[in-house]
Amino acid sequence: MPDRRPCSQRAADNVQPSPCQSGAVLRIAVVGSGPAGIYTTEALLRAGSTVDVFDRLPCPFGLVRYGVAPDHPKIRSITATLSQVMDHPAVRFLGNVEIGSAITLEELDDHYDAVVVACGAATDRRLGVPGEDLPGSVSATDFVAWYNGHPDAPPDAFSLDARSVMVIGNGNVALDVARLMCRPPADLARTDVAGHVLAAFERSAVREVHLVGRRGPAQARFTPKELRELGETVDADVVVDLAELELDEVSRRLLESSPAARRNLEVLTDWAQRPPPGRLRRLYVRFGWLPVQVQGADSVTGVRLERARLDATGTAVGTGDYQDVEAQLVVRSVGYHGVPLPGLPFDRRTGVVPNADGRVLDGGAPVPRRYVAGWIKRGPTGVIGTNRRDGTQTAACVLADAAELTTGGQRGGSDVVELLRSRGVQVVTWDSWTAIGLAEAALGQLRGRESIRIADRRSLLAAAGL
Ligand code: NAP
Repeated sequence: MPDRRPCSQRAADNVQPSPCQSGAVLRIAVVGSGPAGIYTTEALLRAGSTVDVFDRLPCPFGLVRYGVAPDHPKIRSITATLSQVMDHPAVRFLGNVEIGSAITLEELDDHYDAVVVACGAATDRRLGVPGEDLPGSVSATDFVAWYNGHPDAPPDAFSLDARSVMVIGNGNVALDVARLMCRPPADLARTDVAGHVLAAFERSAVREVHLVGRRGPAQARFTPKELRELGETVDADVVVDLAELELDEVSRRLLESSPAARRNLEVLTDWAQRPPPGRLRRLYVRFGWLPVQVQGADSVTGVRLERARLDATGTAVGTGDYQDVEAQLVVRSVGYHGVPLPGLPFDRRTGVVPNADGRVLDGGAPVPRRYVAGWIKRGPTGVIGTNRRDGTQTAACVLADAAELTTGGQRGGSDVVELLRSRGVQVVTWDSWTAIGLAEAALGQLRGRESIRIADRRSLLAAAGL
C-alpha cells in the first residue's frame, strides 16, 4: 500500500524523491510548462519517470516568459536552467495543446499513469467596485500579457495615450506596471519587447502614475529589492507623503517581525524626504486608500478613493473621507486567480484545486491519478524558486503512489502526438520551440537587439515550421 501520510510528514524540507519502489517506470503528463510544471518534471526524472509536458501556448516557461517584466533579464535567465530539464531525453514538450479542447484529461489516462496539473492562475482577482468594467479599467494580468507579447493579447490592446494612470495594489506586479509606465523607452529598446509594444511606450503620453495601496507600508507585499529598483530606474519624481507612512499599533508590531517590511519602510521614508529632481513624470506612491469607485460615463475619468484605517485584525476599513483622483487608465493589480480545468475539482472562492500536498481531493477524498503543483495548488503567491519545493513535494506524492498508479492497466499503446496530429493539432515540440527562439534572435539582429518577441500565434507556429 502506498504511504498516504501527508508528504510534509514523510519528507524533510528538501525532499528528494526516490525511485519508485515498484521499480516500474512511471509515464507522467504534466500540464503547464511554467516553473511549477518543470520543477515537478525535474523531480520525477530523478526517479526515472518519463514525462510529457503540455502547454496550451506554443512557447514554454509560463509566467517566466509571459509574466516576468522585460527589464528583468536576470530573473528571466532562469529559462536556461529550466531548459536543461526539458532537454532531458525522457522529457517531451508538447506545446500548442490545450487540455480540455485538443484532448481531455480523461483521454490522457489512456496514455499516462498520472497527470500533474500545473496550469497556474490565469485570470485576475476582482476589485468588486462600481465602474470596474468601464473601458480604460484593465487588469494587470492583461497589461502584463500585452507587454510580454502573449499570443492571446491583441497588439492594439494598449495605446498608452492616458496622461494619468492609477495602479491599484501593493504587490510586485503593481511595481512592475508602475516601473514600466515610468521607465525611459530607451531602456525597453534594449529588451526583447515586441515592436508594437516598444512603439506604444515610445509614444506614451503618461505623465502621472498613482500607485495606490489600501493598507499601510508595513503591509505592502513589495519585495524590498524590487521597491528600491523602482526609485533607481524610473524617469519620474517619486512622491511619497510622510504622513501616509505613519504606523499604527498593528503595523508597528508587524514591522518588528518583518525585516522586509522594515527595509521597504526605509526606502519609502528616504523617498519621502528627497526633494523632487524635476523629471519628466510624477510617480505617487500612496498608502491607506481604498478604491471605492472607478469613475466615468463611457470610459474611465478617475477613481474615488476612501481613506482607510486598519482595524484590530489589520483589515482596511473606510473612514468616510473621500478623495477623487483623475486617471484615464486604471490598472487593477490585486492578484491572480485560478480558473477551473474541465474534469478537475475546483474551489471557486480560493481559485485553487483542493489538494493535500499536491494530491487532488474531491469532497476530501483523493482523486486517483490526479495531482497539482504551483499556483493552482497553493494560490498565486511566492517567487519562482518557491515552485521548486512545491513541485518536488507533488512529485514525491506521485512517486509514493507509484504502486497504485502502475496497476491501473489503462495505459494504451498509441502515441499521444499521433492522436493530436490526427485531430489537426499543430504540436510544438522542443525542437520547434528552439526554432522559435532562433527566429526571435534573427528578428532581433535586424534591429540591433539580441532578440525580439514574436507575439501572434500564427507567426509563432510559422517560426516553429508548422
Ligand atoms: P500580491 O503580492 O498578492 O499583491 C496583491 C495586492 O493587491 C496587495 O497589496 C493587496 O492588498 C492588494 N489588493 C487585493 N485586493 C484588493 C482590493 N480589493 N482593493 C485594493 N487592493 C487590493 O499579488 P501580485 O502583485 O499579483 O503578485 C503575485 C505573486 O507574484 C506574488 O507572490 C509576487 O511576489 C510574485 N511576483 C514576483 C515578482 C518578482 O519577484 N520580481 C514580480 C511579479 C510578481 P492587501 O495586502 O491589503 O490584500
